[in-house]
Amino acid sequence: MRKLFIAALASALAGGTAYAEGVSEQDLANDTANTSSVLTNGMGRHLQRYSPLTMLNKDNVSKLTPVWAFSLGGEKQRGQETQPLIHDGVMYITGSYSRMYAIDVKTGKELWQYDARLPEGILPCCDVVNRGGAIYGDKIYFGTLDARIVALDLKTGKVAWRKKIADYKAGYSYTAAPIIVNGLVITGNSGGEFGIIGEVQARDAETGETVWTRPVIEGHMGTLNGKPSTMTGTLNATWPGDMWKTGGGATWLGGSYDADTDTIVFGAGNPAPWNSWLRAAGKPKGAEGDNLYAASRIGMDPATGEIKWHFQTTPREGWDYDGVNEVVAYSNRNGEKRWATADRNGFFYVLNREDGKFVRAAPFVKNITWAKGIDENGRPEFVEENRPGDPAAAADGKKGEVIFAVPSFLGGKNWMPMAHSPKTGNFYVPSNEWGMDIWNEPVTYKKGAAYLGSGFTIKPIFDSHIGSLKAIDPDTGDIKWEYKNNAPLWAGVMTTAGGLVFTGTPEGEFIAFDDETGEKLWSFQTGSGIVGQPITWEQDGEQFVSVISGWGGAVPLWGGEVAKKVNYLNQGGLLWTFKLPKELASAN
Ligand code: CA
Repeated sequence: MRKLFIAALASALAGGTAYAEGVSEQDLANDTANTSSVLTNGMGRHLQRYSPLTMLNKDNVSKLTPVWAFSLGGEKQRGQETQPLIHDGVMYITGSYSRMYAIDVKTGKELWQYDARLPEGILPCCDVVNRGGAIYGDKIYFGTLDARIVALDLKTGKVAWRKKIADYKAGYSYTAAPIIVNGLVITGNSGGEFGIIGEVQARDAETGETVWTRPVIEGHMGTLNGKPSTMTGTLNATWPGDMWKTGGGATWLGGSYDADTDTIVFGAGNPAPWNSWLRAAGKPKGAEGDNLYAASRIGMDPATGEIKWHFQTTPREGWDYDGVNEVVAYSNRNGEKRWATADRNGFFYVLNREDGKFVRAAPFVKNITWAKGIDENGRPEFVEENRPGDPAAAADGKKGEVIFAVPSFLGGKNWMPMAHSPKTGNFYVPSNEWGMDIWNEPVTYKKGAAYLGSGFTIKPIFDSHIGSLKAIDPDTGDIKWEYKNNAPLWAGVMTTAGGLVFTGTPEGEFIAFDDETGEKLWSFQTGSGIVGQPITWEQDGEQFVSVISGWGGAVPLWGGEVAKKVNYLNQGGLLWTFKLPKELASAN
């Protein structure tokens, strides 16, 4: 009773918008500036992945030393893509197969573990990964492979509530970190290869009650407080016939939030099926065939889920160039408010943060085949002969013309998050240089079955490397430096005010680069491939750095000629934490 009263009082003092016990909206807004905790995926909801800490810097990073490592154990050693969170002396990580761990940051000792008991028959397309949680109030939230969202007590790991996002039997799942804005837990969904409908959902963080839903394919209705709100787009404006009903657009990578414009941005994945001839214009007459809002970024009001703006990167997408990659809020060197995103399609885009309008785009990988460039309106200048051929036009009606496309379907960049440094003004983009043979086939929708209508073989385009970490000037699109890596890069990037850029490789190296020159200043072999997201924070006057090591994710699932660059890599599952030796740190 007393606790209820205090909660009600705190809520009233906070203007009734937040349950102010524990982590508050203000704490989330200050996540980058407050270096003693990491409460959000992205180290701030703008997703800059930048720390203002300077204790660790270019001069002393060569002395960075491991302090503890934590094993995720068990037989479930699959891809480990989590970004750790830090709150009140505790680290929270998620693991493959929808697990969560709370760890004492000083000792590396486990405090509790939560293991979502997944049903038989889940349909994750691209490994059983999880990318992290979100902290608010006295709870931590994360999504599970059976398309649920779970709220756990921060102290005990006990389940506070558990809600269904969608039906896993229809191909839905969830792997991204949720984002929390003004007391709402906001999630997307996964399953774009199964003809699902991409959607963004917001729930009351305290109760788990759904507040709004926003499907991202035109023709579908949104909801607000349990009632229909508005239709997404205009029915059959850009989709022929009934194709919109199974139109894909999975919002599988979560979102970002810009407090200046009070906008959340989610990306929508490929339209379904992959065979773009089934979604072409003229069926019915007049439909443009752009297939909105698949392969788009969508700016929304976080309170209602109403769409404020959209920007489509690949109209009538036909190469699996999902439009989900993270959209980072930043201000450029002139102080202009911008969004930046590095798309699967190989182009790096800058948008106006006020209205989502296109500012500029430049290629960030080499030898792009499907488009000559991006015009002044942000629309691709398609190379039509590089669209996989129409199977209906083939002699046997079964296999359309095979084309070789760059980037491959795994993208110039995939999910692995880039970082921005307000210090240099640059973005640090983990990219991959590769292509694919791709062709189209006939396909019909069947619930819970892959809905592609395409076949493909992925291939390197250079002998020397696939992976390429690039420092990109967003004002010009110029590549300031590049670090080439044999295997495809699949890990997140982090920048610091100490002039460091951190990322990891599938070969297991955790590396610190000079943010201005790209010089490798330090590296550590973690024992398995790194596909996780590094963080840094301050504890008792010392700067710590953590990253998870554990090879997996989408790359090893697709053979092709890429397999020989990764098929020797060992599985793993270790969270590594580093700091400077105390005498060195205090000498600073
Ligand atoms: Ca896809």
